[in-house]
Amino acid sequence: MSRYIATRAIRGSNALVTEAEVMLNKAICDKGPDAPVSFPNTAYYLPLILAMTGIEVRTISQLKPVLEHARKLLHPIPSAMHWTPYLGETLDSGMATLLAAETIEAIRFVYGLQPEPRPGIELSGGTTYTTDANGIKDHLNGPIDDIQLRSWGIQLVDGRMPGFAAIVGAAKSNEVAVKIVRELQKRNILTFLSGNVNGRSIIDQLVEEGVQLGYDTYTVPFGTDTLSAIYALGFASRSALTFGGIKAGQARDILMYNKQRVFAFVLALGEVDDLKYAAAAGAINFGFPVIADTVIPEILPTGVTTYEHVVSMPFNKIDGKDDLERAERLVQKCIEVRGVKIKMAEVPVPVPYGSAFEGEVVRKPDMRVEFGGKHSRCFEYLHMAPLDSIVDGKVEVIGPDFDAIPAQGHMDVGVVVEVAGRQMQEDFEPVLERQIHYFVNGASGVQHIGQRDIAWVRLSTAAVDKGFRLEHIGKILHARFHADFGAIVDKAQVTIYTDPDKFNEWLTRARQAYDFRNRRLADLTDNRVEEFYSCTLCQSFAPNHVCVVSPERLGLCGAYNWLDCKASYSINPTGPNQPIKLGKMIDNRKGYWSGTNEYAAIGSHGQVQEVSMYSIMENPMTACGCFECIVMLIPEANGVMVVSREDPSMTPAGMTFSTLAGIAGGGLQTPGVMGVGKYYLISPKFIYADGGFKRVVWMSSFLKDSMADELKAVAIREGDPDLIEKIADERSVSTVDELLAWLEEHNHPALVADPMF
Ligand code: SF4
Ligand code: ZN
Repeated sequence: MSRYIATRAIRGSNALVTEAEVMLNKAICDKGPDAPVSFPNTAYYLPLILAMTGIEVRTISQLKPVLEHARKLLHPIPSAMHWTPYLGETLDSGMATLLAAETIEAIRFVYGLQPEPRPGIELSGGTTYTTDANGIKDHLNGPIDDIQLRSWGIQLVDGRMPGFAAIVGAAKSNEVAVKIVRELQKRNILTFLSGNVNGRSIIDQLVEEGVQLGYDTYTVPFGTDTLSAIYALGFASRSALTFGGIKAGQARDILMYNKQRVFAFVLALGEVDDLKYAAAAGAINFGFPVIADTVIPEILPTGVTTYEHVVSMPFNKIDGKDDLERAERLVQKCIEVRGVKIKMAEVPVPVPYGSAFEGEVVRKPDMRVEFGGKHSRCFEYLHMAPLDSIVDGKVEVIGPDFDAIPAQGHMDVGVVVEVAGRQMQEDFEPVLERQIHYFVNGASGVQHIGQRDIAWVRLSTAAVDKGFRLEHIGKILHARFHADFGAIVDKAQVTIYTDPDKFNEWLTRARQAYDFRNRRLADLTDNRVEEFYSCTLCQSFAPNHVCVVSPERLGLCGAYNWLDCKASYSINPTGPNQPIKLGKMIDNRKGYWSGTNEYAAIGSHGQVQEVSMYSIMENPMTACGCFECIVMLIPEANGVMVVSREDPSMTPAGMTFSTLAGIAGGGLQTPGVMGVGKYYLISPKFIYADGGFKRVVWMSSFLKDSMADELKAVAIREGDPDLIEKIADERSVSTVDELLAWLEEHNHPALVADPMF
């Protein structure tokens, strides 16, 4: 253990705890002891403090015991004579630093100083703030909200997102900063940005280079000071609480969970000062190693992290022909030191490729050419072919490429994918076709929206300048279908049609296929199949939760419908989706079968004995935490409300989505509360036993707007074409009283229906 690091970390932590104490005393004077303290959009209070101490901080005065605890963890600065290793003391100091750092950020929120203002910044996804106390609207991201934590949840659980990098400081040059972030994005590693060196932050460097920052591109700018790095550890703490099912205050378990399950590391760019040493010592507590691109002493393995604790890799000494190569090696070193496991397909395109680019937007001025959208047409059609009729990897463009199209112009493009494989079935065609969206979107500088004959693709000028052409769409699809669906796809061939006659001919064929599939899917009802499927993918963080997926009820996260599960089962017969033989029908109205009940008991490890497929009142299905919507009984209204994840407003139940989520999740049966996928709302089997869709008395406007056509069809099916207009939403109603008045006024059918219970 390095005495140098111990000395500096201990010194840094002493200074920070003292600073926090001074700030707290001042805040108590200025704002009063009962002034509320919170981070935005989280149910976890101040998450690191909650996780480590169990204290649910709601008011300023509750920060006192936190800092008292931090002070107890401090140690005197080691004397020059002292020789023992100081790891324990250093780790304690690190923890004290984290507690003090989160305290300071919380106090800054009280003063309206967090998140950090940044005029002109536009984040792609992320918390949007209304004007703050100082009249500033544009901000860096600040802490990550719970909604985002959950939506990254599945990816963290299934390994698509291998971990996160907390970058602190500034890179040698803007070019190096961009390269480091691109290398991380390419591997789908989530990147948190904070800190500065002599006033210059990596955030400045990336903004100057026009890199899109925000949730959608996996690069989250916390703040330009070191303290904001605390939000990374707040995220890590919440992962353990949310996905690990660990209780607040079980500090040791939470730290162990992070060491074993959360593949994160700290990359310190530029000079490391006392505070950074202290914060780094905090990160090591979580098992997160620190890699610095400057000369600092190293800390070799002792078991707190998996491998080395602190690694020094002076940037200019890294082997490499230029800075870009050095940046690449630096990132590789980080991955190695943390043991991050990367699952990645090599995709042969001239631009960076990875899921982190899926959310990238290509704006009109940056666009070279678009296919589909307002001015042209674009379709995608995937179908199976006999094994010997196609050539694997063949990509053909029939008709001219886009070279002759003027800048920011448009053209018609049809993408036809043929796949073959011994295990391939016609049922999988739509499942595979839907992946085209994700696959194509993964290329940097390519934006993909929609599907089937409403696809819309934009290529950026930057991507085209790097050599991106139509054929690369085919190359992406070939590579990804093999990588992701190798078990069913043995061969894939792609043809891209731009020739007008051929385009029209294939568009007609594609539309016939879409129609055929629509009709078949509509026929696919729960009573026409012999088996449903289980999904236990979320058991890694909600150990007793199972989704039972039927043709008329998809998984609550919205990502798995019956066909998806069937496909997944044939691809991976021992995987998370197993067929559930229905056996004997017990109750067709409530949705009980002998097979589903038996499975529910086994799958939930005895927690649940029976599960009703169509009722919210009796043995409703459990939920993990990934639900798209929450359905909840409003007894006074004799109906239910449906709150979508996108809706931050107050509901008539007196709770917001994030508070409700705490009640709905956790794998328990709670009659009257259910987490569901939003397409279940339009199913004829939606709470069928309780009266069906006519029970919906309140619904987030987001759902009304985004599913307008589907909901209209449901209203007609239910025999009440104006039903949707009779349903209240957050724009007009936020209390039960207002709701009842609205329902009276609009003559909602729930008021005269049978009592729900
Ligand atoms: Fe998790 Fe259910 Fe979605 Fe499966 S279907 S991933 S268990 S939420
Ligand atoms: Zn889940």
